[in-house]
Amino acid sequence: MRTLIIFFLFLTLQMDSIKLKIQEEFTQLQMIFNGFSKGQFNEKVKFLLWLALHQALPTNSLRHARGLATSALCPICNLHEDTVLHCLRD
Ligand SMILES: [Zn+2]
Repeated sequence: MRTLIIFFLFLTLQMDSIKLKIQEEFTQLQMIFNGFSKGQFNEKVKFLLWLALHQALPTNSLRHARGLATSALCPICNLHEDTVLHCLRD
């Protein structure tokens, strides 16, 4: 029983850590999008950033989660998961 409680506490901490990471990434993307949306930028660029902000870019990570790709890794470096931030920032 004690092991089970410790496991659930560990799981809860892990989930909080993941939530914080997602919030941090969302905030970074929102700051980028707000900066671009105020300027005179092409609508295509604004749309691309809007897709990135809403985690809707068809990255390998998203495609793999939906069963459309065999791997979630970046096709360029093949080292990291192909997330929105990896595509735009890394
Ligand atoms: Zn890469």
